[in-house]
Amino acid sequence: MRSHQIAAIPGDGIGPEVLDAGLAVIEALEKDEGFALNTIRFPWGSEFYLQHGRMVKEGGIESLRGFEAIYFGAVGSKEVPDHISVWDLILPIRQKFDQYVNLRPMRLLPGLTSPLAGRGPKDIDMVCVRENTEGEYSGVGGFVHRGRPGELANEVATFTRAGIERLVQFGFELARTRPRKLVASATKSNALRHSMVLWDEVVEEVAGRFTDITLRRYHVDALAARMVTQPDTVDVIVASNLFGDILTDLGAAISGSLGVAPSGNLDPTRKNPSMFEPIHGSAPDIAGRGIANPIGAVWAGALMLEHLGEKQAAARVVRAIEKVTAEGKVRTPDLGGSATTDDMTNALLEAL
Ligand code: ATP
Repeated sequence: MRSHQIAAIPGDGIGPEVLDAGLAVIEALEKDEGFALNTIRFPWGSEFYLQHGRMVKEGGIESLRGFEAIYFGAVGSKEVPDHISVWDLILPIRQKFDQYVNLRPMRLLPGLTSPLAGRGPKDIDMVCVRENTEGEYSGVGGFVHRGRPGELANEVATFTRAGIERLVQFGFELARTRPRKLVASATKSNALRHSMVLWDEVVEEVAGRFTDITLRRYHVDALAARMVTQPDTVDVIVASNLFGDILTDLGAAISGSLGVAPSGNLDPTRKNPSMFEPIHGSAPDIAGRGIANPIGAVWAGALMLEHLGEKQAAARVVRAIEKVTAEGKVRTPDLGGSATTDDMTNALLEAL
């Protein structure tokens, strides 16, 4: 029996609700597929912050190093400013464990309706390879004259050749495994004349090593418009941290709901644990009501199984999701139905 060490961080709001669903679905395959998940839960998040003045216990993030993967719900609550929850928990994990690829599939699942008129699953099948450790979210900058009328803040985007190259290389390798063999680079080198010029140069260099892949370069605003008007022309997107963040919320929205989109924060070298999470946040407006759509978390669980080498189990989870959405009998309110998180989880378990 293959055994995998998993750190589960349910977090805040609907995070615990959807993570429980995700664990129930992936654990249901243990016996059948011959693996065991050894899962330890960490109670970090906003509640922990209100009790201890920090989101994570001291040395907590470092203690995750021994795990093969981290399965994460969501963080964020009214009581804790967002920049604290993000900078004390999510971004340090991504940076400390060099999870330099944020992989975000954006696919219209069968049976779901896109807000884009006349578009079906064949038209919307993209994946964003978002830079995850530097760029606009490097954390460089500061305040001057804090609290006085002349207050000033600056935020320095930091791009390194090595950081861009390894990310873009991953994107091209991924494009090789997909039928359309297209890479769209999200740039803005007309206005950002340093960072994005370096980005373009490195993208061109990497593209030169992949003659079987077609590179298309778009300014990020034009790419956003294209995702709406011609989503069928977009396949793999390589993007900086900020651009990828924005484009993938758009991608999730055109795929029917923020509630279905998964993500993997990957260290492709496998020296450090990778982290898997739904892309949505803690959704305080629906937390505690038992109506959150668990599909994003379940699909993130499938990405985790794939990363752990449990490819068959991962494929079974994705097929179960597709079966349930295609049948359309069980739909949570975000998909226009009235099913609960438990109803959806049970439907997924049945479909397995
Ligand atoms: P973040 O800044 O962390 O992305 P946010 O507050 O901007 O978080 P979300 O928490 O993701 O955004 O919520 C945005 C909207 O999407 C809310 O109305 C929320 O109810 C809805 N939503 C998010 N996730 C789900 C889900 N799994 N099921 C149903 N609705 C969801």
